[in-house]
Amino acid sequence: MTILGTPTLLGIPFDGQSSYLRGAGEAPGKIREALRCDASNSWSESGVNLGVAGVYGDAGDLEFAEKDAFAAIDAHVGALIDQGNRPVSLGGDHSITYPIVKAFAGRYSELTIFHFDAHPDLYDEFEGNRLSHACPFARIMEAGLAKRLVQVGIRTMNRHQREQAQKFGVEVVEMRVLPAYEKLKAKGPVYITFDMDVLDPAFAPGISHREPGGMSVREAIAHLHAIEGEIVGADIVEYNPVQDVSGLTATVAAKILKEILGMMSLRQRA
Ligand code: MN
Ligand code: MN
Repeated sequence: MTILGTPTLLGIPFDGQSSYLRGAGEAPGKIREALRCDASNSWSESGVNLGVAGVYGDAGDLEFAEKDAFAAIDAHVGALIDQGNRPVSLGGDHSITYPIVKAFAGRYSELTIFHFDAHPDLYDEFEGNRLSHACPFARIMEAGLAKRLVQVGIRTMNRHQREQAQKFGVEVVEMRVLPAYEKLKAKGPVYITFDMDVLDPAFAPGISHREPGGMSVREAIAHLHAIEGEIVGADIVEYNPVQDVSGLTATVAAKILKEILGMMSLRQRA
């Protein structure tokens, strides 16, 4: 039996690689606030009381003292893992997943990534930028940082990204063929990256790129609950408070976070 570390929150208030709208940098504080809001109790649906001290930790928000934001993210996430934590990062735009996964790949070999998103984020470059939030999974796959990349909820495939998916052997599960519970089983370490725009904008309007025809909150939770494997870390990205309606998307992000933390905690004790 492997003893897994404590799930630990890390806010990454960075939206410097967003191609369309800024605002995702303000998300971490709002998600924390919603997680601790008295409107709901602290239990996950899977039966874990997140209100018990020590079930998860919080390392606060990353401060970008250094000029190179990606180097700072890589170093801080790596340090958290080395201290025995399982980092759960609150973004930020999706570009941050590249330096985060870099830190994980240096410490866990044979990583499986379960990627929830409306977009494959596989562009070789976007508007001349190879570090854009439209590119992180191209960088991850070409650097060999993951054994498997499984993308769920995709509904914006174009020819270039289809070619990229084929080139890198990405397992793409498009929105129109869901459910896909059986695709979410892995051997070895699992990393979950959850882009809030995988949800239908009716459920989560507070995002930068609204793509109709997405998952309900219930479908997303059902797929998260179906994950099998050792969850070593996760992120929730692309919540954009500037676009939100009455804080609704913060509440949804907190619900997703609660279920991810609950699953990580159950696996810890398994
Ligand atoms: Mn994304
Ligand atoms: Mn997206």
